[in-house]
Amino acid sequence: MKHPRAHAWKAAAATAVCGAAVAGLRTARGHPVRSAPTLAAAGAGLAAGGLMAYEWLTPRSWLYGPVFWHARTSERVVALTFDDGPCHPYTGHLLEILDREGIRATFFQVGNNVRREPNLAAEVASQHEVGNHTFTHPHLTWSRPGTVREELLRGQEAIHDATGTLPQLFRVPHGWYGPQVISVAEELGMRCVGWSVMAWDWDRPPTDVIQRRILHGVGPGGVTLLHDGQDTDAFPKADRSHTVAAVSDIISSLKANGYGFLTLPELMDLDARERQSK
Ligand SMILES: [Zn+2]
Repeated sequence: MKHPRAHAWKAAAATAVCGAAVAGLRTARGHPVRSAPTLAAAGAGLAAGGLMAYEWLTPRSWLYGPVFWHARTSERVVALTFDDGPCHPYTGHLLEILDREGIRATFFQVGNNVRREPNLAAEVASQHEVGNHTFTHPHLTWSRPGTVREELLRGQEAIHDATGTLPQLFRVPHGWYGPQVISVAEELGMRCVGWSVMAWDWDRPPTDVIQRRILHGVGPGGVTLLHDGQDTDAFPKADRSHTVAAVSDIISSLKANGYGFLTLPELMDLDARERQSK
């Protein structure tokens, strides 16, 4: 289905261009720069241009198409998500913790890492939801659609070969969606996903800092972002020991505060139900 906002960015672009053009023309014709109509036209142009730039970069993009980053609900539920795996030994440790806690999570796997550890990828997929996180974990924000398509298709192929499942979720590496990334993902049958809270755990902060960042930022319907791998690196270059050590306490605290845990598709379904009931 065509996203209802699929053409909204064109209106923003027209406003940006027209605002700048009107302000420029008025100035060229001798109107004072500080006259109200000139300033209004320039302001509208700048605001529209700023909105376009912001929406290009944000993991919560709205203007160029839907990026799911939280469920609009007051129910105390969260979706735990993990990026950049599979990566031995961290992914396995996480699987043990989640199994012990009776929680299903969502893992955005990197195709290259899936090729390296297909059995671990399959183990993840047998218990949890799996999404595509490209093949080589590149910056796609400014890439041509052809490059985006190749990265996504290679990721799909690697994950399908290892797990037998074809992901219907996609999260862009480094978090910056461009409009072309969103439309290619949708063409390939994947919904784009962001997050509502993260811990900057790729910088390997201490365990208690990771816990505090997640627990302070999380709310009903939230999507947490943590990492079980690091780009396309393998152990020992990839070190996610702090993240894995933080997860048990994060889960205990959330449970103590009455939170339940859903996979991303389950959280998306809840969001859709809540919207219908309003
Ligand atoms: Zn990543």
